Amino acid sequence: MNISFEGKRILVTGAGQGIGRDLCLRLSKYKATVIGISRTKKHLDTLKIEDPKIIPLAVDLRDWDATRDAVSSILPIDMVVNNAGVATLAPFLQLTQADFDLTMDVNVKAVFNVSQIVAEDMIKRNYGGTIVNVSSQASQAAIKDHAVYCASKGALDMLTKTMALELGPHKIRVNSVNPTVVMTAMGKLGWEDPKKARAMIEKIPLGRFAEVDEVIDAIVYLLSDRSSMITGTMLPVDGGFLAT
Ligand code: NAP
Repeated sequence: MNISFEGKRILVTGAGQGIGRDLCLRLSKYKATVIGISRTKKHLDTLKIEDPKIIPLAVDLRDWDATRDAVSSILPIDMVVNNAGVATLAPFLQLTQADFDLTMDVNVKAVFNVSQIVAEDMIKRNYGGTIVNVSSQASQAAIKDHAVYCASKGALDMLTKTMALELGPHKIRVNSVNPTVVMTAMGKLGWEDPKKARAMIEKIPLGRFAEVDEVIDAIVYLLSDRSSMITGTMLPVDGGFLAT
């Protein structure tokens, strides 16, 4: 695919590490103006050193008002990747109210907040736009010790669909990518134990976890005009896990 995002302003959340960080670097290579939001300033500082063209924005997405102010300050935005996420893993009976609130705040409420600000401006400009939410295979399959995480990603998929429904008439497409395990900091949290990893890999027809670049390829496709008639979909990047 010959991809260029020249002239586009793309907002990526969770830009400090993992999938979001590499995504920022890739989109910048495709000539987009990339604005990367993350919580930890030192992660953004090193990203800026790696690619000085990327515009860093340190904000805690759990802070509703600070997020609204930060996102409003960098409009207009043509494309958004709601990638920031957290995973609090524990047996259902041990999960706490704090675990629930943290997970829902970052994985669902922040997507709602960021997308609302950007979409409102996209509608005013009448220029269309694209939003990609980073969900998970865990939105559609129950995974042990992932009760709150699964619930948050299930909610995110429905948010994606309802946003696609309501924003479609304004030429704004909204989709999600739903990866299997990727060995980022988050992936290691749940799957570093070789016994757990083996059990999961056995359920993946392609017999391995996903690479960061494979998730990024799917995001790039959904951002680009190559997917111009696709909205409201969940694209698994899961080696077939959800097919079984
Ligand atoms: P990661 O390496 O842990 O990175 C998560 C990013 O989200 C970090 O940059 C972090 O910020 C940011 N973030 C977390 N809470 C935030 C907050 N309150 N405010 C602002 N930024 C916040 O995770 P990842 O593996 O790249 O995950 C990216 C996305 O993929 C997530 O939505 C995750 O659910 C999804 N996913 C991951 C996997 C996997 O196995 N890794 C599988 C399926 C789906 P700082 O760096 O600034 O702290």
